[in-house]
Amino acid sequence: EAKAQGRGGLRFFAPEITARARGRLRLEAGLREALAEGQLALHYQPQVDLCSGALVGLEALARWQHPQLGSVSPAEFIPLAEDSGLIVPLGEWVIHEACRQVRAWLDAGLQAPRVAVNVSAVQFSRGQVASAVGAALTASGIPATLLEVEITESVLLAERAQALQALAELKGQGIGLSIDDFGTGYSSLSYLQQIDVDRLKVDMSFVRGMLSSTGSASIVKAVIALGHGLGLEVVAEGVEEDGQAAMLRSFGCDAIQGYLISRPLPAAEMGDYLQAFKARPPGGEAS
Ligand code: C2E
Ligand code: MG
Ligand code: MG
Ligand code: MG
Repeated sequence: EAKAQGRGGLRFFAPEITARARGRLRLEAGLREALAEGQLALHYQPQVDLCSGALVGLEALARWQHPQLGSVSPAEFIPLAEDSGLIVPLGEWVIHEACRQVRAWLDAGLQAPRVAVNVSAVQFSRGQVASAVGAALTASGIPATLLEVEITESVLLAERAQALQALAELKGQGIGLSIDDFGTGYSSLSYLQQIDVDRLKVDMSFVRGMLSSTGSASIVKAVIALGHGLGLEVVAEGVEEDGQAAMLRSFGCDAIQGYLISRPLPAAEMGDYLQAFKARPPGGEAS
């Protein structure tokens, strides 16, 4: 045991820790460069209405193509960006890029649905989210109703008053707001009455378990009932199987997102997807 070895234990672990720290620093420098040199991109994943099959929204997800390392997962670089503060400029880029892309789709005659961007707690505590959103809406000229912000409950953990103020300012611009990974945070539910939320996203861990575990299924059912009781829409994420979609439909869930419908797609492929939807809307005539 390292502790039992006293100070000597530190020497044993130091090289490994240093290597990891060095790797992190290198990745952080790389991310800074990626932001400056346009190595970041957004991919888009559809959300469809569980009754009509209509496309109701897209989620924008950040992608990083590193020149040497290849694609780096957001699960790796987003936490890094949060720790280093880079998430503020990165997050502003995401907001602007999503709005710019919606503008481009509209200009191409495509019916772009609302696009949701992920905004982390650090952006609320260190950045100016509402003004970034305002600037992106103005620059792109898209309707505010086509933009949505996804937050997790962690936004409300620190400096609650300040967070509530920032969220009110954000909502004041007419955009949508959804709570991501719902049910996995540590917050009490009272905030749902204090902020103007539009949507709850059932975390995929519950969706993944719902066919095999009655506990997960009960949680999913309860989240849907809670959302509906509060007048909110509920989207289930991480839906991979028909059986999950069927159970979600029986629970009255509004929309689903997941590999069953589509993986997140690069903007050009999403454009083709929108074109196909325009030509042949599910259950309707061509528009
Ligand atoms: P999230 O916001 O909960 O996004 C959903 C994640 O689930 C995405 O992972 C998506 O690719 C993945 N996913 C979607 N459908 C399925 C499915 O059917 N099965 C499985 N197994 N996974 C599915 P991704 O793109 O790797 O992003 C991971 C997380 O990184 C996101 O979770 C979000 O918290 C964060 N993230 C991504 N882009 C951004 C961003 O632009 N800004 C911020 N602040 N965070 C971001
Ligand atoms: Mg999300
Ligand atoms: Mg999520
Ligand atoms: Mg997440």
